[in-house]
Amino acid sequence: MSEVWQRLDAPNYYRATKKYDLSFPRLTETLDVDTVIIGGGFSGINTALELAEKGLTNTVVLEARMLGYGGAGRNGGQVMAGIGHDLNAVAKHVGKDGMKMLFEISNLGAGILRGRAERYGIDADVRRGYGYLAYNQRQAATLRAWEKEFRTAEPGEDIQLLEGDEIASILGSKVYAAALKHMGGGQVNSLNLLLGEAKALASYGARIFENSPVVEVTYGDRITVRTEDGSVRASKLLWAADSFLRNLEPEIYGKTINTYSFQVATAPLPEAVIDRLSPIRGAFSDISPVINYFRVTNENRLLFGSATRWAEYFPDDFAAWNRKLMLDVFPYLADAEIEYAWGGPMACSANLFPQIGTLPGRPNAFYVQGYSGFGVTPSHIVCKVLAEGMSEGSARYDLMSSIPHARILGKDALRPALLTGAKTWHQLSGFFNGRN
Ligand SMILES: Cc1cc2nc3c(=O)[nH]c(=O)nc-3n(C[C@H](O)[C@H](O)[C@H](O)COP(=O)(O)OP(=O)(O)OC[C@H]3O[C@@H](n4cnc5c(N)ncnc54)[C@H](O)[C@@H]3O)c2cc1C
Repeated sequence: MSEVWQRLDAPNYYRATKKYDLSFPRLTETLDVDTVIIGGGFSGINTALELAEKGLTNTVVLEARMLGYGGAGRNGGQVMAGIGHDLNAVAKHVGKDGMKMLFEISNLGAGILRGRAERYGIDADVRRGYGYLAYNQRQAATLRAWEKEFRTAEPGEDIQLLEGDEIASILGSKVYAAALKHMGGGQVNSLNLLLGEAKALASYGARIFENSPVVEVTYGDRITVRTEDGSVRASKLLWAADSFLRNLEPEIYGKTINTYSFQVATAPLPEAVIDRLSPIRGAFSDISPVINYFRVTNENRLLFGSATRWAEYFPDDFAAWNRKLMLDVFPYLADAEIEYAWGGPMACSANLFPQIGTLPGRPNAFYVQGYSGFGVTPSHIVCKVLAEGMSEGSARYDLMSSIPHARILGKDALRPALLTGAKTWHQLSGFFNGRN
């Protein structure tokens, strides 16, 4: 394993706060089932759970390492509104009615996530309270427009634009010009959520295998998926490996590119510091082209994450790099101990919108990928739509799967250069679209 991967894989907050002692066997036999799913993250487990809730339980999920090894066990735990970074990015493909449908479904993720935690009694620190943050008046104007949109989408929700001193009612930082409080958003311990969902899935009789990396897929009416020590034959397949796909299926591998995000978790902070830092003990992110995101956890830790702004590179020391960004926002945390520092890849699509569909000429081989760093809440609605496509069919599956997915040429050989170009473009266009 490379030195960078060792740092990305360093012990993290989620592994340290894992509440479910779940483990699943390695696949060592040959199984015949209805559906086989590759990847034990939010996409794989949620789609299987959606199918199980419809009575379709003859499913196998194959995970290369352990559940949550991917983004699902590394992320910021931010429960945010929407799907993709900007719905307008797909407007030209879906038309006016399609945009209306996408707008309707785009805010359903948080409700599904919370409903699932309630229904299955999942212990995952699900908490309401979100703030979108503006550094300047250009961004504040964007938040004013979002306030109207969010209120239209969720009329009963506590949504309020705060400016100047009002911000202190939710966040103790002097660097922001405005904050859009959205109590419909919030946070979750994503690994515990995933494991609770996996436990629910297993209770339906679906089977999960860990330490079972898929090494080969043979397509046909019955698809054969081979792991190192076993195989599964199924009528339907779902690729849900996202940023960990590693070119096993070139058709979809070529349609995303991995960028990386890095995070730290402080040791638990004194109650008085937390009262100052966030009276609502919320989750927050600014709205810049590359965001800082942070939240106060149940144990009074601050989780703080970000990604490189213009150039794509791996910081030498994730803890020091993130700590500096954290202190820019909260200078009074100078003495806070950093207990964990880790990171992970995020598969980005060209339009930063998640991709679902079937492989060309293979109507029984589905895929989902490309959340572009924004998959905790979106995966819950996207996989509901995907499961509809994999079972009875639906208009919203037809719509979402009709959006074309651009191929990213040179994604491996030119990765840092392509991402540096894309980030620079986003930063510059941010001055004109209210995001910078
Ligand atoms: C550091 C970081 C911070 C993030 N913060 C946020 C956030 O705050 N909010 C948010 O909404 N999103 C966030 N994200 C993004 C979010 O975590 C992802 O979008 C989400 O986890 C995608 O889920 P997934 O199930 O599609 O993929 P993953 O969770 O990555 O799961 C894919 C799984 O497939 C498995 N796999 C791969 N290849 C094979 C194979 N050959 N055989 C078997 N299994 C295989 C992998 O081991 C992995 O477990 C963040 C991501 C990172 C890395």
